[in-house]
Amino acid sequence: MSILIKNGRIITADADCIADIVIEGETIRAIGKDLPFNAEEIIDASGMLIFPGGIDPHVHLDMPFMGTYSSDNYETGTRAALFGGTTTVIDFILQKQGASLQNALDEWRSRANGNAIGDYSFHMAVTDFNENTKKEIQHFIEEEGITSFKTFMAYKGALMIDDRQMIGLMEEVKKQGGMITVHATNGDMIDYLVQKYREEKKFSPWYHYLSQPEVTEAEASERFADMAHYTGCPGYIVHLTCEGALNAVRNATRRNQNLLVETCIQYLVLDASLYEKNFEGAKWVMSPPLREKKDRETLWAGINQGIVKVVATDHCPFKWEQKLMGKDDFSKIPNGHPAIEHRMELLYSEGVHKGKISLNKYVEVTCTNPAKIFGMFPRKGTIGIGSDADLVIFDPHEKHTISVSTHHMNVDYSAYEGWEVTGKVKAVLLRGEVAIDNNECKIEKGFGKFIKRNKVSGKI
Ligand SMILES: [Zn+2]
Repeated sequence: MSILIKNGRIITADADCIADIVIEGETIRAIGKDLPFNAEEIIDASGMLIFPGGIDPHVHLDMPFMGTYSSDNYETGTRAALFGGTTTVIDFILQKQGASLQNALDEWRSRANGNAIGDYSFHMAVTDFNENTKKEIQHFIEEEGITSFKTFMAYKGALMIDDRQMIGLMEEVKKQGGMITVHATNGDMIDYLVQKYREEKKFSPWYHYLSQPEVTEAEASERFADMAHYTGCPGYIVHLTCEGALNAVRNATRRNQNLLVETCIQYLVLDASLYEKNFEGAKWVMSPPLREKKDRETLWAGINQGIVKVVATDHCPFKWEQKLMGKDDFSKIPNGHPAIEHRMELLYSEGVHKGKISLNKYVEVTCTNPAKIFGMFPRKGTIGIGSDADLVIFDPHEKHTISVSTHHMNVDYSAYEGWEVTGKVKAVLLRGEVAIDNNECKIEKGFGKFIKRNKVSGKI
């Protein structure tokens, strides 16, 4: 199958030009003007922007949690992602403490294989680092193409590792050519504050927010930076939310340390006042919590300064019935909110349309940097000859309203209900196949491929 996309305005992290794109099979064959190709299908993209397919490197699909599962599986989650212009996601495998990494990989594969519609990869979350786990790292990097290892400095008793394990893991991962990613908040402090509020019979979602103050994130980010610096292991902080934590990273750069930072769309556009809505605030209970308006401004600045490298979602949806598990106790509310479908359009509308970031920066933080950082570039994350034909055809002027009645995620509320956005995904191609057209998904479950990733250096 060959496709010619004509007259679109092609945007990459470093280019902006009107040209035609020729696709043969799964890849981009040529880019230029008046190309001498006869394609089987011609798409006229006049007046449209063309972005590389979005890459969301932080999602949780079908994730077991508190006896239930996040409500989007690989089919519904990757389909919703495609509707929103995201063609590849990276999900997190969670090791069970006491069990092997391989065990967890097998379990996650059994849920993803044959179900994903969009492309996907995995990070491996190491929750129990010991002599046995250590022996598995090389195999994951060399054979499985899983080159990033997630750690939790919080969720004490479930996912958290201590600093002794962190240092050991960093040394091994560095040696084998991988990267450590981190949920950087101080688990002991949070644990203390959660118990304190519960003893004081303060149970509303507002206390979820108060139990994770900015200092818990700033402290852990600084400690992580120091450990990564000491070991020389490439490091990446996921879902960074606040000024204190970003300043810890700024300090690390003063000694020429290259520490990578991701934030998520919600931390750029929402704030903690949503927790004042009594239990409705449970819709936005996530960790870290939403922050203050000054933190949003810090994060936008961090993007433009090149310190914040990636905008992801931490998509982890739960239906309202699941959120109700914490009706009488904020610490029992499943953490996470639905956003996989809205990242590209919200960031365009709030960032590019409102003049906060440039078009090139937009592509850099949603497509190119995630591909480079996680070892998928230039196959993914750009529009180039030989790259996968993952493309988003985007109308920069069309206005629409986000709503539970029109979204495609498997969740019965929207965290952005009634938001007016400017800019709409009109069509999406995934490896040369038209995946989304005219508000319809044209590909079936099982189309999504597992993407093996290369070794990574922490430098981009
Ligand atoms: Zn997460």
